[in-house]
Amino acid sequence: MKIPFNRPFIVGRELEYIREAVEGGQLAGDGRFTQRCQAWMEERFDIDKVLLTTSCTMALEMSAILCDIQPGDEVILPAYTFVTTANAFVLLGAHPVFVDIDPTTLNMDPSAIEARITDRTKAIVPVHYAGVGCDMDAIGAIAKKHKLRVVEDAAQGVNARYRDRYLGSIGDLGCFSFHETKNFIAGEGGAITINDPGLVERAEIIREKGTDRSKFFRGEVDRYTWVDIGSSFLPSELVAAYLFAQLEEADRITEKRLAIFDRYSAGFQSLQDAGTLRLPIIPEHCQHNGHMFYLILDSQEQRVDLIAHLKSRDMLAVFHYIPLHTSPMGQRFGYREGDLPVTEDLSKRLLRLPCYFELSPSEQDCVIEAVHDFFR
Ligand SMILES: *Cc1c(COP(=O)(O)O)cnc(C)c1O
Repeated sequence: MKIPFNRPFIVGRELEYIREAVEGGQLAGDGRFTQRCQAWMEERFDIDKVLLTTSCTMALEMSAILCDIQPGDEVILPAYTFVTTANAFVLLGAHPVFVDIDPTTLNMDPSAIEARITDRTKAIVPVHYAGVGCDMDAIGAIAKKHKLRVVEDAAQGVNARYRDRYLGSIGDLGCFSFHETKNFIAGEGGAITINDPGLVERAEIIREKGTDRSKFFRGEVDRYTWVDIGSSFLPSELVAAYLFAQLEEADRITEKRLAIFDRYSAGFQSLQDAGTLRLPIIPEHCQHNGHMFYLILDSQEQRVDLIAHLKSRDMLAVFHYIPLHTSPMGQRFGYREGDLPVTEDLSKRLLRLPCYFELSPSEQDCVIEAVHDFFR
């Protein structure tokens, strides 16, 4: 039996909806399925405006434009994240200001933010790692005090909550991913969430190549034209059709992932009790979405050995981000090893276990058993 790290899945009416989209006569973006996905998320997550994009990366790039990032501006973010969290802002000439993470959640440490704010700081970009909400109360208070934008990278946080508010509904802007490795999938796909009503009109324009085409379709102008910078950020109806079938089953998908998370937690509790490894910690005020299950091991060497042990049994476990500040690009921005000790330490010892919708309890038990064997 082979257990991959991730496997794309169909949960319900994906193929039916794709057929409906094709037969409906519009495959280009902003058709019926795009509208249905957006309306579903606006209502469910209590967000003013949601616009589908081709990826979370594109939602981040739109966010950077909406934050009006200029060359030399500074953006505060964790280094323990995916490259596009930084690149979206760097593309417009921003300097990424990396702060360390909180060792309990691996989310941006809010107490590290204020010391890094300068008169060039424009935005804070919290990343909700593993679908566990960042300390948004603290981050929001700092942003308000210093008049900074907050852009949530909620790629992993769709349908998760922080103090009963959905991730992506809290900052000025938020970014979701529907990449096949995330909770709700469409192959490649994403969305930008807009909680500041003042940004909605410009967001629609930027997403439609810098034109007022959205207004034209609503009958608000009698022809559309070039009014701003922009690009083609909107996905095809094929993507939206697949995604809508997943959103309709969002609760079932989340329940399944939480059950997988809980089964792993229970299976490894004895190893944590014995001090052998550390399990994820979910703060009481966070309702996570089971996006990821990871183990924090003793050392990088132990991780190499455990990955090999699992691989020999056809199970794929993987490490995660190489901290951005120690990457070649990070070094070009003047960072070096030693700058962010918690990030560097934990990123070397974290191991992600197989976690996907169709992972069965018996497959999961094989993984749990194999990890126990490793430590015996
Ligand atoms: C997956 C991910 C992204 C990128 O998402 P895409 O939809 O693949 O562009 C960005 N940030 C984080 C934290 C992610 O996990």
